Amino acid sequence: MANKKMTSLGKQKSVIRELAGFGAERAKVVGPENVLNFSIGNPSVPAPKEVKEAILDIIQNETPQAVHSYSAGNGMESTRKAIADNLNKRYGTDYGADNLYMTCGAAASLNIALAALIEEPSDEVVVLAPFFPEYTVFIESQGGKMVLVEARDDMQLHAEDVEKAITKNTRAVLINTPNNPAGVIYSKEALEELAAMLEKKSKENGRPIYILSDEPYRELVLVDDAEVAWVPSIYDNTVVCYSWSKSLSLPGERIGYILVPGKVEDKDLMPAIGGAGRALGYVCAPTLMQKVIERCVDVEPDVEVYKKNRDLLFDGLTEMGYVVAKPAGAFYLFIKSPDGDSETFSDRAKEYDMLVVPGTGFGSKAFMRLSYCVDTETCEKSLPIFKEMMDKYYR
Ligand code: PLP
Repeated sequence: MANKKMTSLGKQKSVIRELAGFGAERAKVVGPENVLNFSIGNPSVPAPKEVKEAILDIIQNETPQAVHSYSAGNGMESTRKAIADNLNKRYGTDYGADNLYMTCGAAASLNIALAALIEEPSDEVVVLAPFFPEYTVFIESQGGKMVLVEARDDMQLHAEDVEKAITKNTRAVLINTPNNPAGVIYSKEALEELAAMLEKKSKENGRPIYILSDEPYRELVLVDDAEVAWVPSIYDNTVVCYSWSKSLSLPGERIGYILVPGKVEDKDLMPAIGGAGRALGYVCAPTLMQKVIERCVDVEPDVEVYKKNRDLLFDGLTEMGYVVAKPAGAFYLFIKSPDGDSETFSDRAKEYDMLVVPGTGFGSKAFMRLSYCVDTETCEKSLPIFKEMMDKYYR
């Protein structure tokens, strides 16, 4: 018999995938241009030209052995050094290659970091709603318990709410800013309050509570005055999980890293990351992509289309009376269904061939997620539908 837990995970229906499948079927009938698909977070902006140039140059000018061999388990030293240099330049830190572990994307980074941190089945990982639904799978699969902090309508971080979820068993608080699905960026002040609270609680508990900072959207900042704070500079016991899936539009390449700063209390944490990477089979991230990242680490993403789509949707929807969490980053909007029932709204939207994801799986049932990493025309076409739905069902 196959493992029951894994079978059930494998058979579980993902709402997002189901919606995408529905969209694909409808596209055959009405044409793809008439399906307004806001379901999946696949970047619509192509990877920067520097990525293509690097791939071609590496393949043409390096030996096949150099391009296709295994790297060291934790990744190539030169790539890790290039990433450390980039972070040091931006955040005034002093990381070296040894603070980094290369991974196959943020999902791998999170699983490895969780496996390295969770010691006992009673260990708890606090997650703030709304959250990326895979967190539940990752935390439970790595042997921990997920404890959820409910969101307020502003979808922001409130340390006093998190404090209520902390117990003797809290091992880590998992945060994601800029946030999927709400698009909000946590302010430096809110993170400082969180850090002060966690320092106090760590002392009371007699072991550190870590911040796991999941940051695949770090560079996707869409408002001029927004700053994504560097969490390790605010709280010493921070582990950063990163990938280039969104910032360089490389979700299929599976490339990311874990950063363990030298200031973390447990000096065995990096060896534990190495052990977890081995145990999970996530060693030697793709060599070609490590080489590409080494060359492209300073390349910045083009966020102009995301900015345009965000403004168009946010302004249009708020004008119609929809409640929308103010998005400052990533490429998602989190909209409240006017009657608080996002599943019915999503079903009704399907009748217009418009696909929006109900927020139930993200931990906020009243809201739904729109991935606006689509072409601007799709956003434009959606506004009259939102208007008609508001007038028809919710006035
Ligand atoms: N964390 C968040 C918040 C995400 O939105 C995603 C992907 O959508 C991931 C992690 C996983 O990223 P990756 O594709 O790099 O594994």
